[in-house]
Amino acid sequence: DERRILQYQITLYGDDERLVMARDITRLHQLEQMRRDFVANVSHELRTPLTVLAGYLETYEDMAEQLPPRLSKGIQRMQEQTLRMQNLVNDLLLLSRLEIDQGGDDHAELEVAPLLMSIAEDARALSRRRHTLQVEIESKKRLLGSEQELRSAISNLAFNAVRYTPEGSTIVLRWRIEASGEGCIEVTDDGEGIDPIHIPRLTERFYRVDKGRSAATGGTGLGLAIAKHVLLRHQAQLTITSSPGKGASFYCRFPAGRLR
Ligand code: ADP
Repeated sequence: DERRILQYQITLYGDDERLVMARDITRLHQLEQMRRDFVANVSHELRTPLTVLAGYLETYEDMAEQLPPRLSKGIQRMQEQTLRMQNLVNDLLLLSRLEIDQGGDDHAELEVAPLLMSIAEDARALSRRRHTLQVEIESKKRLLGSEQELRSAISNLAFNAVRYTPEGSTIVLRWRIEASGEGCIEVTDDGEGIDPIHIPRLTERFYRVDKGRSAATGGTGLGLAIAKHVLLRHQAQLTITSSPGKGASFYCRFPAGRLR
């Protein structure tokens, strides 16, 4: 039970000299494991009380007409905040599950077109037809992956495009094979874009560009962290590019070995 985790750094000097440094990161690894377990357990435990709370609030909402306006307004606010908390807890739980297990058990050959079309349909519902959503399928290749996980990753990108772009923007979901042989699912919008200084940090947990505005969108700050982890489990890479004022693009690149 004395398994240690070592991190090696090898520096090459010329042809025949090497400096090898080993660092024992066992403790660091254990702490990280504890953090993940803690987040997973707390999120899980918070789900039940929140469900109960939401249930009661729904009953009161049904009685709204019999209640004084101030009270029914308060109940509405409580419902909104309960929903926000439920989203947060669900995202935290999903993220810690993604971090804890290695994945790969439920990977199947997926048709990309129906997946992107149904995500676009959900995004249209969220947008209430205030945005134009297009799906462009440039390849018939299938993708080896978990439908549930990829749906949540790509949905996060598409829903962000709806939430962070002004009315009338166009959002494109595209599937194509690149010259390198990699498969690419792209989510592009022509909204306000993102200042490049924020891009490297966007996939960090709870990182948001504009805290005030983001709070109003009902996001949790975990969407892109979830997307990144899902993609990592598929050996895929998330690349974000943006020119401010012209929109943002999110590229999910899958290695050729994952295409069928
Ligand atoms: P959330 O949307 O819950 O705040 P995310 O991790 O999904 O968290 O996104 C992080 C931040 O990235 C958002 O708060 C927003 O500021 C920015 N962002 C994401 N997608 C876009 C987009 N398509 N256009 C502009 N900004 C975006």
